[in-house]
Formats: sequence, C-alpha cells, structure tokens
Amino acid sequence: MSEYMIELVNVTKRYGPIVANDHINLKIRRGELLTLLGPSGCGKTTALRCITGYITLDEGRVFIDGKDVTDLPTHKRELGMVFQNFALFPHMTVYENVEFPLRIRNLSKGKRREMVMEALHLIRMEGYEDHYPRQLSGGQQQRVGLARALVYHPKVLLLDEPLSNLDAKLREEMRFEIKELQRRLGITAVYVTHDQAEALALSDRVAVMNEGRIEQVGTPDEIYDRPRSKFVADFIGLSNFIEGAIVSVGEGKAILSVDDLRLTVPALSEMQPGQTLLAFIRPNDINLLPAAAEGGENVFRGVVSKVTYLGDRIDYRIAVGRRLELRVQTDGKVRFERGENVQVKLPVERCKAILE
Ligand code: ATP
Repeated sequence: MSEYMIELVNVTKRYGPIVANDHINLKIRRGELLTLLGPSGCGKTTALRCITGYITLDEGRVFIDGKDVTDLPTHKRELGMVFQNFALFPHMTVYENVEFPLRIRNLSKGKRREMVMEALHLIRMEGYEDHYPRQLSGGQQQRVGLARALVYHPKVLLLDEPLSNLDAKLREEMRFEIKELQRRLGITAVYVTHDQAEALALSDRVAVMNEGRIEQVGTPDEIYDRPRSKFVADFIGLSNFIEGAIVSVGEGKAILSVDDLRLTVPALSEMQPGQTLLAFIRPNDINLLPAAAEGGENVFRGVVSKVTYLGDRIDYRIAVGRRLELRVQTDGKVRFERGENVQVKLPVERCKAILE
C-alpha cells in the first residue's frame, strides 16, 4: 500500500493562453489534511477539479489510493466534496439531503437510515432530520454539507473554500470542528483556501500556489519560519523585506550591507560575499527600545513615523537609516509616540535570508 492517498504527477491544465495548473507534482499522505493556499486565480480550484475529475487534464496523471484515476469519471473516484455555497438541495429535508448520495448507490432503506444517522451523529445534528436548509443557520448548513460528503465513507474529503460564506467567529469555530472530525475519522482531506490564517490553523501540510505552480509544500511551521521565496514569505503573514549585499560570511553568520547599516543574519551554506540577498523579519519579531537603551548587534536608531492601535497589538512604522521603513508590532506594554526617537533590535536568529 502506497504511503500516499493522492498523487498528482505533472498535472497541467490550460485555458487558452492561461496555464491554470503548470506541471504540478504533489503527494498527499494517507490521513493528512493538506491545504492548497494561494491568491485568487493561482489555480487552487483547478487543482482540486483535477482530483475530482470535473475537468480533463492537458498533461499528467492523477492517482488515488495507488490507482490511476485520470480517465475515471468523478462518481467512481470515491470522493466526498464540500463547497463554499453549501450546495444543499433546498426542497429536501436534512435527512433527504444526507441520504441523497446513498440513494444513487444500491443500498437497502434500513442500511441507508443507519448511515444517515451515523453521519448526523458525527456532526451533532441528530434531531434536525425534518428541517429544511432554510431553517438552518449557515454553520448548520455547512455541517449538513459535511455529513452529506462523509455519509458513504469516501476515501478522500475535498473542501473548496467551505467557510468563506460564514462570519469570522463562526469560521473559526468551524475550522476546529472540521479539523477534529477529519482527525477522528482519519480521512485524507484536501482543503482549498486563500486565507493564510485558516491554512496555518487547520493543516498538517500546506502547498502554497502561485501562478499555476506550487512554490512550497511544508508544515505550517516550515512555511511560516522557512519560506523559500519572497512570494511565500509575503503571502504567509507580514514581513519586512531588507535587500543588501553580503560583505562577509563566517561562524554561522553573514553580514549584509544595507546602505550605511550592517545587518547580521544567520548564514546559509550557499552564501558568498558580493551576492545580493533578501533578508526578512516578521513585525512581531522586532524589539522596539527607547532611544537611550544600550546598542548592540542589529540595533539601529530610528524614528516612529506611524502608530496604529490594533486592540491586542500596536503597529508601528519606524524610519531607519536612509531608506528603510520597518513595520514593528508590539503588545503595547511600552508605548511610543509618532515622531519619537527609538531604537529597533532585529534579533539575528529571527532574521531570515532568501537567496533569489
Ligand atoms: P479563486 O480563489 O479566485 O477561486 P483559484 O486559485 O481557485 O482562484 P482557479 O479557479 O483554479 O484559481 O483559476 C486559475 C486560472 O484559470 C485563473 O486565471 C482563471 O481565470 C482560469 N480559469 C479557471 N477556470 C476557467 C474556465 N473554465 N475557463 C477559462 N479560464 C478559467
């Protein structure tokens, strides 16, 4: 038995001049929840449709559970699907909606009832059998959508932006509910979203997509802490990008010249003096210090150019050196005013380098 439940091999889909999926190679492990994450139009839904069989590939193969399904119609691929717009049948009750996928399979009435009740139990909606979708909240409708996707014990669960029609608070609750359910059932799931917070909270691994290609696949930690490209660093959370030239490399550190500043970053094995390098640091990794504080490695003088109160955090823009404007976020315990002289400390281990 293969370690992977789904494999995309060189999957390519073109729409006229647009390459919606450009030679995608992706292996999804059994029992994992993998998210396809990226901006609108990057090809997430197309990749999902290649797995469902809704579209015909121009190139490449799709395997599910070790079997080549490229030429197999959707209903033979043993998939459960959940969509953004819930897609429940409005004239059918909750029971009938969940039972629907079983009716087109040859199962006895008694067996169908057992499976529907098991699925409703999973999503904690026993007692709602006779309700119609319009009598349910958005969250309940989406749970019924999940029950309908899971009722026939599919091999794979596919979810396309399933929470984007819900309000922010419900979205967060449903995230955990979906994750818990997926883990409990041990089902392999592919989740499409453009919301990076959702992807980080839910996923075992995330595949970040850009212009039809996969830029990086990794655990939420890996893609947040060790993005391999500027695109990934920028898409996953906030970043300050600082471009400089390497002046020296040694003892695990590299020194960058950024105008008249010297920035120390952890060295990468392939670094050479003279190369240009893009360093980045997250706004909440920078320390903001009073102007009178002692200096040190990666401590620079600056002036507060903007202060934005965000409730649980304060967002500062700090003008540093000749051209840099750094974004810094603090918990607000110590406050600084616009126009105030300050110092910023960029702890070396929090500075990351991307060789492009
Ligand atoms: P979104 O988050 O906005 O849904 P996405 O990442 O899911 O975006 P896709 O829907 O996969 O992106 O689209 C990828 C590209 O392919 C886009 O440029 C889109 O315009 C194009 N595309 C998708 N479907 C079709 C189609 N049926 N006909 C023509 N072009 C299409």
